[in-house]
Amino acid sequence: MGLSLEAVIGLEIHAQLLTHSKLFCSCSTSFGASPNSNTCPVCLGLPGALPVVNRKAIGMAIQAALSLGCAINQDSVFARKNYFYPDLPKGYQISQYALPLAQKGRLEILTLEIESEQLEFLEFGIHRVHLEDDAGKSIHRSDGSSYVDLNRTGVPLIEIVTEPDLRTPRQAHDFLTSVHRRLLYLGVCDGNMEQGSLRCDANVSLREVGSLELGTKTEIKNLNSFRFLRKALEFEIGRQAKVLREGGSIEQETRLWDEERQRTVLMRSKEFAHDYRYFPDPDLLPLQISESWLVELRDSLPELPEEKQHRFIEAFGLTPAEVLQVTQSQEFSDFFEATVTAGAASKTVLNWTLGELARLLKQSFRSKLSETQLIPEALAKLIGLVEKGTIGNRIARQVLEISARTGKDPEEVISEHGWSQISDQKKLLEIVTEVLQDHPQELDAYRAGKTGLLGFFVGQVMRRTCGQANPKMVNGLLQKELRDS
Ligand code: ADP
Ligand code: MG
Ligand code: ZN
Repeated sequence: MGLSLEAVIGLEIHAQLLTHSKLFCSCSTSFGASPNSNTCPVCLGLPGALPVVNRKAIGMAIQAALSLGCAINQDSVFARKNYFYPDLPKGYQISQYALPLAQKGRLEILTLEIESEQLEFLEFGIHRVHLEDDAGKSIHRSDGSSYVDLNRTGVPLIEIVTEPDLRTPRQAHDFLTSVHRRLLYLGVCDGNMEQGSLRCDANVSLREVGSLELGTKTEIKNLNSFRFLRKALEFEIGRQAKVLREGGSIEQETRLWDEERQRTVLMRSKEFAHDYRYFPDPDLLPLQISESWLVELRDSLPELPEEKQHRFIEAFGLTPAEVLQVTQSQEFSDFFEATVTAGAASKTVLNWTLGELARLLKQSFRSKLSETQLIPEALAKLIGLVEKGTIGNRIARQVLEISARTGKDPEEVISEHGWSQISDQKKLLEIVTEVLQDHPQELDAYRAGKTGLLGFFVGQVMRRTCGQANPKMVNGLLQKELRDS
């Protein structure tokens, strides 16, 4: 009999704050500058250079922490985290240790509940959120030479540490997705994972179902995509389960995800774990946050994704799966809501935004609504015109494309192209009669019992009207004519 095991997962998420300058000096944080050009004595760690804290970064960190339900410590302390590495010129990172900026938070996300396998709002604890400066980057060439680029040295990061509350790779994936979306809504991180603006270390252990004790964990470092996080955890859970089922034990160690080999590999074992010898940074005063600034920062928080999801479910009757899609980005959810407010039915707007509009964005507008000329009022009007029968779905798709490209009002586009749907009974009857007269053979066959030919006649009418005939009316007229003639 195999052991019945469950996974316990905790994440440490590093997010780069979207400031123009670094955390303790005025060097630029821009990505892709020529190597070592964004540096100064402070971030190079030259003797005698003194750090000065960046107020913008602190404000962003506080807003992120508030949005994660954390209590802000109005007094916190910067500490030196000492280790030696070629891309760390100071010989230490400035971080926070004993007294972090914020702690004891929680985040509620839509994710799969394990038993029911349904999307539900589940809450996970946040252990702490603290500030730190980033290290530089080592570049290893295939010829064996190595280079160091210190442009990233000193860039402001927040580290978000969760409680070990997550239970599945899917939940971890959804959690990171939710944090990512939240930071983008807040405008405190650009969320670019390929450039390393958001990256994640995943800690995972197994234990027998029902046990309250934590097993020995391993840590998978530097996962820079949602997919890698999920795959690495899936692999690591399988690896640990096998060891435990064979009677072995898990070593506490740090591992890396090897995408090529689709497995985690050992980076360092416990014996080689760093001893960071933290101590308060003597060059920096304790960080004091005034009550009034805190209030100001709290009051200027936008509506956050999960709050919006709750509201959309209540106000618009969307399902959790639908709401998850609509609130992907702030831009998209604002557009959805404005279109509904402009008078279109929520489910119809949902179908149009997730269907035709999403497809159009992908094809022609680099997936960005802001690159289109479309306004919510225009989409609402277009939906109304389809409902009234002025145009059919096929024409409506073309109108959407033109409105998105040119910003023209749908009605204007339709009249310019003469695209109004023909719903004139007399005119349609004329065309129906013509079609029947022009196809005597098909007519005979129909009368002899090949009633499937109805579709053929409809098709002919549509062709003659360049697709503008009201299909419902054409169907009705044809059936009547075929019966009566
Ligand atoms: P470390 O000192 O190794 O960094 P921490 O106690 O600071 O470990 O925890 C780091 C992360 O690992 C947190 O997200 C925490 O929730 C998670 N974690 C701690 N212990 C375990 C465990 N036994 N299994 C899974 N995750 C754990
Ligand atoms: Mg750790
Ligand atoms: Zn600098």
